Amino acid sequence: YFIEAGQFHEDHVVITGDDAHHLLRVMRAKEGDRVIVSDGEQREALVEISGLEKDQATCRIVELLPMDREPAVEVWIAQSLPKGDKMETVIQKGTEVGAARFLPFTSERTIVQLDAKKEEKRTVRWQKIAKEAAEQAHRSRVPVVAQACGWNELLQAAKQMDAAWICYEKESGSQLKPALRKLYSRPDGSGSLKIMLIIGPEGGFTEQEVARAETAGCLPVSLGKRILRTETAAIVGLTCILYEAGEMG
Ligand code: SAM
Repeated sequence: YFIEAGQFHEDHVVITGDDAHHLLRVMRAKEGDRVIVSDGEQREALVEISGLEKDQATCRIVELLPMDREPAVEVWIAQSLPKGDKMETVIQKGTEVGAARFLPFTSERTIVQLDAKKEEKRTVRWQKIAKEAAEQAHRSRVPVVAQACGWNELLQAAKQMDAAWICYEKESGSQLKPALRKLYSRPDGSGSLKIMLIIGPEGGFTEQEVARAETAGCLPVSLGKRILRTETAAIVGLTCILYEAGEMG
């Protein structure tokens, strides 16, 4: 369970809210049962339930655990807002695999448009999906889901990364693998690198968008000769990046 830093005390933690509900009502936990908790930042521990109340569980810290399940390389998935519930799929599966951040954005052919009134609510819902997926994957940190932005803002963010790759199915000269090998062959290897993977909408990117991304320092890359669905492309690209960094076992 991910808990707030303030719920972490010297020798015990207190689990409250939805997590307490999940622990007590869904998992039907009893005193003496053990679970893993993390504050998502600095501390992770194996704890044993020592006291149960209606809506909270007090747990004794058995052992502090190393927070070593996070990939050294940070992958940010910039996903052009897809239709239906595909963004949920990208966030859930991407979190399991090891993404560090999700940046939904709109581009020329995005069908779903930004709606200022809905954005905040949508981000809260997506952040909850990331938290649940991080718990099930036993991650030490919950990836951040940023509020959806426009294409210009995304390109500004891309400039802050060590590498930003725009996935373009019409690209034939530049493949993901050589781009990865080149990046990882730097003297500091793949440690603490920040990579942005930019995925287009169902209708893809326009040539002009790809050209603008290149001007902003992004490299167009191919993910192979087959055309992947937008939500598949995000997960495949992420997996390749982490595999090549030695993070997939
Ligand atoms: N029509 C399908 C859909 O509804 O999802 C596929 C759309 S494909 C154009 C969506 C995005 O996935 C593209 O903009 C690109 O970012 C990425 N993509 C898919 N296949 C790819 C490939 N072989 N190489 C690079 N990027 C790819």
